[in-house]
Amino acid sequence: MALGTCRAVLVTGCNRGIGLGLVRGFLARSPSPDLVIATCRHPDQAQELQHLKKQHQNLRVLQLDILCENSIKKATQETEALVGEQGLNCLINNAGINRIATLDSVTAQDMLALYETNTVAQLMVSKAFLPLLRKAAYQDVVMGIHRAAIINVSSQSASMQLFSQNKKSEEVYPYRIAKTALNMITCCLAADLISDGILCMSLEPGWVKTDMGGSKAPLQLKEIIPGILNVLANVREKDHGAFLNWKGEVVPW
Ligand code: NDP
Repeated sequence: MALGTCRAVLVTGCNRGIGLGLVRGFLARSPSPDLVIATCRHPDQAQELQHLKKQHQNLRVLQLDILCENSIKKATQETEALVGEQGLNCLINNAGINRIATLDSVTAQDMLALYETNTVAQLMVSKAFLPLLRKAAYQDVVMGIHRAAIINVSSQSASMQLFSQNKKSEEVYPYRIAKTALNMITCCLAADLISDGILCMSLEPGWVKTDMGGSKAPLQLKEIIPGILNVLANVREKDHGAFLNWKGEVVPW
């Protein structure tokens, strides 16, 4: 597989927002991956994915609720059947949730809900797909998404260093804390998976207009998606364990 391109990529949370944008971007790329595996909670209701499926033979749509153990297991088995002995090259942990919560309004329930989806589930999904990523990793020596990679979609709001400069917690208490913990997952995975040659990194997609980003976001999907795809195409061993933004710049932890 040529550097910068990947044979099989799987993205979580693809029925809307950045996940759908990434799927569209991968399908439009030349060359496009042999397999773009778009996962979402309700494939039957994901009209845009179903429409794309009619146009692109390399697109597969699988059901995956990242909070559901059985769903993760089934999606892993279905992916294994699709990728075979060549394995899965790139897992993009994109699915996520947000809840507005200030110091005054935040509840234990908010904290746990965001930790469960934005942190715990990302680790469980990564663990489940690890055997398929390892299969792919054995087939090359240069690190990158052409070989094997786990990309955790994080957020600039998770950066402890940027926070210490701004000192403004805003209204996203549970979100930024869960994403900071996700960044630690990236660091731990990077330490554990270096010997397998599986590249692990956190990615800040930019503040972008989606259901989550809202209408005040300064960026649009059409700006950030090509940026993210270029960043992914160029990540190598030096980026293992890094936190990069959609322009390829290092985000401080
Ligand atoms: P959206 O709210 O537009 O989309 C979120 C996606 O995650 C949806 O497809 C949603 O599916 C899916 N999802 C949520 N929970 C689950 C679950 N349990 N299982 C499977 N899928 C689930 O968000 P964005 O596209 O904006 O965000 C994508 C990622 O980017 C997130 O991780 C977010 O934190 C991150 N991010 C976004 C920024 C922005 O400005 N937009 C900024 C920084 C980071 P469903 O429709 O079924 O709910």
